[in-house]
Amino acid sequence: MKIIAGNWKMNGSFQNLQQMIKDLSDIDTQNTVILAVPYTMLCTDSGKISLSAQDISAHTHGAYTGEVSASMVASTGAKYTIIGHSECRQYHGDTNASVCTKAELAISNGLIPIICIGETMEEKQAGKTLEIIESGLRESVPANVTSGIIIAYEPRWAIGAGITPTTDEIAHAHELIANVLSDMGLDGTPILYGASVKGSNAEQIMSIPHVDGVLVGGASLKSDDFIPIITSVK
Ligand code: PEP
Repeated sequence: MKIIAGNWKMNGSFQNLQQMIKDLSDIDTQNTVILAVPYTMLCTDSGKISLSAQDISAHTHGAYTGEVSASMVASTGAKYTIIGHSECRQYHGDTNASVCTKAELAISNGLIPIICIGETMEEKQAGKTLEIIESGLRESVPANVTSGIIIAYEPRWAIGAGITPTTDEIAHAHELIANVLSDMGLDGTPILYGASVKGSNAEQIMSIPHVDGVLVGGASLKSDDFIPIITSVK
């Protein structure tokens, strides 16, 4: 059983979500299907899909115009929130420290944070991939947490680029993540791979050791693309 999480980013509409819920209603899968949609689409009746926010505020409440808190997301019935997505790190100033704060707020409000880590192209070229992964984990995951989180390894240079790392690169990264999580007392934490996952590579990627599922951007927008990923593994 794997976790298949889609991330719609700033795409789609409530009508598109209703259609996706309908399209997925009769697929035969034991996998956990999560869809991270814009806040305006979070709703209680999402059928087989568990809904997720794409980010939460680092504050509990107050004068933070435009922000949405963990408790507000939880009140919609959503079960998850992505935190520290590369686009939030790039455009909204998220750092490992703010991701850690957000993860604490998510957990204390009953949400499962999907914490994203991964290296940029510059960091990869400088040979820093494993260092960035390890510091991302140690600095983004709250110290007192023992379960109830998901990690997503997303090489930032491959997101939306149509290219994926080699099988060896993914295997190496996920093995390191599993070892660091174990050292942090977080054995068994699901580890997703994200970046340019599609129907044609999903099964192969999910056969790599320590890949417990995938986080899918572009290919989660249409059911014709998303369903083959969900059904590629049992
Ligand atoms: C993402 O944004 O999390 C992602 C993995 O995007 P894509 O699948 O489009 O590379």
